[in-house]
Amino acid sequence: MEDCLFCMIAEGKIPSKKLYEDEQVVAFYDINPQAKVHFLVVPKKHIVSAAALTEEDGALLGHIFAVIAKLAAEQGLNNGYRVISNVGEDAGQTVKHLHFHVLGGEKLPV
Ligand code: 5GP
Repeated sequence: MEDCLFCMIAEGKIPSKKLYEDEQVVAFYDINPQAKVHFLVVPKKHIVSAAALTEEDGALLGHIFAVIAKLAAEQGLNNGYRVISNVGEDAGQTVKHLHFHVLGGEKLPV
């Protein structure tokens, strides 16, 4: 989608520090990390937020969580990590393209 930051990152039109890419998803480090390790996993398909997911996205979601687990292991997050997806203004969603924050590498505040 035009004018969507994460679509442009997924298409390589805007540079990012990519960790992983396949046909369905891209993962890259957050530009403003909130933990020692902070990366984002993003579907290439433009979906506004988790609130816009449908039953048909079930396989995509399963794939996203498999990628998250693989990347977390590769990043050495063996002691745990947090997965967050903000939905809408009250949650602080700033980029209107579904993304999953993966945070870890240290004890996270509860
Ligand atoms: P949200 O607030 O929507 O849940 O998360 C958006 C995230 O995208 C924020 O953590 C923010 O730091 C990150 N972000 C915003 N712009 C860019 C960018 O141009 N590149 C990268 N790598 N991350 C970005």
